[in-house]
Amino acid sequence: YGAKQRGCGTHVYGIESGGRALRDLKVSSGFRMALDRGEIDVVFQPIIDLESGRVAAVEALTRWSHPELGVIRPDEFIAAAEQNGMVTDLTRHVLHASLQWQRLWAAAGIDLQVAVNISARSLVDDQLADMVCSALSRHRVPANRLTLELTESSVVSDPSITIATLRRLRALGVRLAVDDFGTGYSSLAYLRELPVDEVKIDKSFVIPLVEELHTPPLLSGIINLCREMGFELVGEGIENATVQRKLTDMGCSRGQGFHIARPMDGADLLDWQARWRDDRHLSIVL
Ligand code: C2E
Ligand code: MG
Ligand code: MG
Ligand code: MG
Repeated sequence: YGAKQRGCGTHVYGIESGGRALRDLKVSSGFRMALDRGEIDVVFQPIIDLESGRVAAVEALTRWSHPELGVIRPDEFIAAAEQNGMVTDLTRHVLHASLQWQRLWAAAGIDLQVAVNISARSLVDDQLADMVCSALSRHRVPANRLTLELTESSVVSDPSITIATLRRLRALGVRLAVDDFGTGYSSLAYLRELPVDEVKIDKSFVIPLVEELHTPPLLSGIINLCREMGFELVGEGIENATVQRKLTDMGCSRGQGFHIARPMDGADLLDWQARWRDDRHLSIVL
């Protein structure tokens, strides 16, 4: 029985390691078809003003509903899309879906900022600014309703090209955010050189706050300097009320995380927003 079980275990392990390679292959070779087949979805996660609780924005996050593998997270397929030269198509798809929803929400009375993630590869693509411009005019969304999130490392990789692209985008009136701040190599001084409006503090700084007895000096340094430089600040990865309160007390103006809301369908956002508003109203009355 023991031997059989061991054998069985080995066998399962064999399938799993083969499965991993096969899965990687399916992900990298299937992405092009996935876009054409409409398997790439976009979900939205609310970002709130921590002081007032008001919903300020949503971040668009992509998901692949694979017919066989189930839901695949972006961390698993963005790299494949970049390698296959498909990332501009992905960006276009997410941008259109986001602006389409922005219009629908606005028509229902909720005028939200929508943030779209831009991969490092798109940032050196000189089509990006034209693509953004035509998407905005096609959906008739004002440029200042769109935020583009750029990771710190992508901006640092080729500063001269990317800064030119960033200036063009900003000239359109689009808001720019540095995403995952604190994980790359850029210094706070370097931020000053960038034409950006917003800084998103990476969740790796936020999540450990739950256990900290004292204010971590690095995090409060980031928050204070960003405020002095006039950046809007978003803390990401707020998983519980303790962390939300600590970030608020430290002067972080906006927040995003599972404690506030998980990413959801564009259609569910209106219901969520109504409930969120009513719950807050109720807690003020009580
Ligand atoms: P990101 O831009 O930093 O997005 C935030 C990620 O944190 C999302 O993961 C979100 O679901 C997750 N998150 C939000 N709140 C919490 C929380 O309280 N706790 C924890 N542990 N996680 C939280 P997701 O959706 O898996 O996306 C991962 C990354 O993939 C994104 O990180 C972004 O860099 C990239 N990505 C997502 N959508 C796109 C896209 O359309 N285009 C590009 N180029 N990249 C994308
Ligand atoms: Mg982001
Ligand atoms: Mg981020
Ligand atoms: Mg991140």
